[in-house]
Amino acid sequence: MPSHNQYKQSRSLFERAAAVIPGGIYGHTTPANMVPGEMPYFAERGSGCRYWDVDGNSYLDYMCGYGPIVLGHVHPEIEEAAERQRRDGDCFNHPTARMVELAERFTGLVDFADWAVFGKNGSDMTSWAVQVAREHTRRKKLLMVRGAYHGTHAWCTPGKGGLLPEDRAHIITFEWNDAASFESAVKIAGDDFAAVIVTPYHHPLYTENLLPAPSFMQTIEASWHKRGAVLILDDIRAGFRLDLAGSHRAFGFTPDLACYCKALGNGHPISATAGRASLKAAAGRVFLTGSYWNGAVAMAAAMKNLEILERDQVPAHLEKMGRLLADGLVSAAERHGWKITMSGPPAIPFLTFNGERYFYQNQAFSVEMAKRGVFFHPHHNWFLCAAHGPEEIAETLVAADEAFASMKAVTQESAAA
Ligand code: PMP
Repeated sequence: MPSHNQYKQSRSLFERAAAVIPGGIYGHTTPANMVPGEMPYFAERGSGCRYWDVDGNSYLDYMCGYGPIVLGHVHPEIEEAAERQRRDGDCFNHPTARMVELAERFTGLVDFADWAVFGKNGSDMTSWAVQVAREHTRRKKLLMVRGAYHGTHAWCTPGKGGLLPEDRAHIITFEWNDAASFESAVKIAGDDFAAVIVTPYHHPLYTENLLPAPSFMQTIEASWHKRGAVLILDDIRAGFRLDLAGSHRAFGFTPDLACYCKALGNGHPISATAGRASLKAAAGRVFLTGSYWNGAVAMAAAMKNLEILERDQVPAHLEKMGRLLADGLVSAAERHGWKITMSGPPAIPFLTFNGERYFYQNQAFSVEMAKRGVFFHPHHNWFLCAAHGPEEIAETLVAADEAFASMKAVTQESAAA
């Protein structure tokens, strides 16, 4: 097991970054969101379910680039497909046949999809889907779950900078798993109810992740159809990790539009929205483009990725490995006097220490795991990939056993001090 950790290069690169980049590293990968000084800031290379930081430390990777790596880093079949396309070119005046082939494969896989479009990021797609819903219904009000994340655009960003009250003027929030709260939001929207946007399960920041309560989705599904509104599924985080037909299948409901991104291209930049035939005309009227959106390399990679996800039945593997990991972590914690909860789907697990509000224990645990060559995020859900097998999970659990033991020692020492 590698012994860690020096973060000299990470720190020195960050100092250089801070001089020429606002915040040094922006967004969710900022060191401020991790454990500053005690976890890596910059990556160097990856292979399968491992990566190396700029100081040469290696990690079993349980974040997978925050989700896009679903098969493993630098997957040979994906890279071969991408390289073949790269030799012919990527960015043209027109789309290539890859776009049509990908849309055909995509609509064949996602069970409710009659059409698909492609972009680069998740936020491109959620914002566009909201516009399509408004175009289709000619109404304004958008219902969303309080604390849900749908991207970085003004209507949904969790950030504060540069926003106007008007950006959120037509948004009404409701509580996850609370049908009464949803109904009262519907009442407020009245005749102007355009759409509701939901993630397949609830993964707010800093709290246990929550699956839909029995019949929650079905109750609100009936309600929005009755009122002629559009149901948008934001499947950007979970898509293709839970069910290849779309995560709604895992929870027994059917959306009108659904947005995908992370696991679509195994790290190649591509996102997608799928829709029902009834929304196709409205979709055609909402302008959609970007400088790189026809990029053929990412489309070739996504084609191959979807093929492998199906061939190897990756969601079933992720669930199995996720359960092994979660059960093993709970047992290891118990052996050393800690009580933890693993929430969310096993393929996208989230760890909380019972009774801990401020995540100090998560931070201490993540630091101890990083020292032992395992990268666990202290505050965000994790992601499994197809390259995590029983051996890697076993290696992780040995590290976790030591980490929980050493955390106990730290706590006892600080209690004694
Ligand atoms: N929705 C969800 C549920 C997400 O997890 C994310 C990305 N974390 C987004 C939207 C936004 O995607 P992107 O960062 O690619 O714009």
